[in-house]
Amino acid sequence: MARRALITGVTGQDGAYLARLLLDKGYEVYGAIRRAASQTLPRLRELGIADAIRPVTLELNEFSNLLRALEQVRPDEVYNLAAQSFVHTSFEQPIYTGDVGALGVTRVLEAIRAVNPAIRFYQASTSELFGKAQTMPQSERTPFYPRSPYAVAKLYAHWITVNYRESYDLHASAGILFNHESPLRGPEFITRKVTLALARIRHGQQDVLEVGNVEAQRDWGFAGDYVEGMWRMLQQPQAADYVLATGRAYSVGRFIELAADALGFSIGWEGTGKATRGIDRRSGRVLVTINPIHYRPAEVDLLVGDFSKAKERLGWQPTVALPDLVAMMAEADDRRVRDGRLML
Ligand code: NAP
Repeated sequence: MARRALITGVTGQDGAYLARLLLDKGYEVYGAIRRAASQTLPRLRELGIADAIRPVTLELNEFSNLLRALEQVRPDEVYNLAAQSFVHTSFEQPIYTGDVGALGVTRVLEAIRAVNPAIRFYQASTSELFGKAQTMPQSERTPFYPRSPYAVAKLYAHWITVNYRESYDLHASAGILFNHESPLRGPEFITRKVTLALARIRHGQQDVLEVGNVEAQRDWGFAGDYVEGMWRMLQQPQAADYVLATGRAYSVGRFIELAADALGFSIGWEGTGKATRGIDRRSGRVLVTINPIHYRPAEVDLLVGDFSKAKERLGWQPTVALPDLVAMMAEADDRRVRDGRLML
């Protein structure tokens, strides 16, 4: 009999790639979808799998809904990817962010205990847990220092996952994933914001790209690689927590330069701090400006991950280097803008 997986957050970036991976592996994939006025499932459509997913209406803040969903689906594996996942919004909506991102996880774990404690569980932890990082690079042993309501909610979620594993012997694992991107990344996230804006500028649909801190450095990988790591965690005899990362950090400014290169621009920088501007060397045109409105109230300067435990135990490693990832995203947005096909 085919194995059954329930994915919360299936409409998001990772949910879409994970659903495709599990379908390819022969799973019956149940996708938890929130009730919404419009339901176009653009990411699942873009991957051509919208009709292959079995939809389950699910709101993470509603325990009775979760319980019934698990009773109905009877999954072997649950991947909890649902969250209010945008750091900026978490400063504006800290309570909601905590309700979904922190207590939502306890609701899922309680429902698993009630319905079938043998269900294997994956929790989407994040490198934002390291925040004001205490060591370089960060591994599973690095102390956490979250710097946003999003990260604080994820800290609770991380520890409740560990706690349920240790208290009730659940097969519950947390993947501490460093940033991972793709053409399916939400347009509010900096990487996609950059590729989309530069593609629009190239096609005369936008004047300038406005960003916040171009000096922040992140460890960026490809989402398609990271969902493979999630699946491998749940195939282990023992549940555990793993860092998934590339081990290399790049600045936001460098990401912008690479995206510009992929789209036929060549960015040079002038000025410092808020007065920094990115100028196209070929045309002399200002392409990038800074607006402090995009700064975080508490900044996270540098994150870079040590994925040696995942490499050793899961045989996992990233396969896409940042320049290739940026080119993949820039080319996808260039095609979307050119064809007027901007569902995402
Ligand atoms: P995403 O694109 O923002 O997707 C978030 C998903 O959660 C969407 O499907 C969203 O549904 C769903 N959701 C939000 N609130 C919900 C609620 N109350 N009830 C049910 N579903 C809800 O995020 P992602 O990039 O795929 O990331 C997946 C997970 O990994 C998130 O938990 C994120 O915090 C975590 N993570 C991501 C990264 C990264 O770099 N991408 C790194 C580390 C950890 P709607 O479509 O209805 O809004």
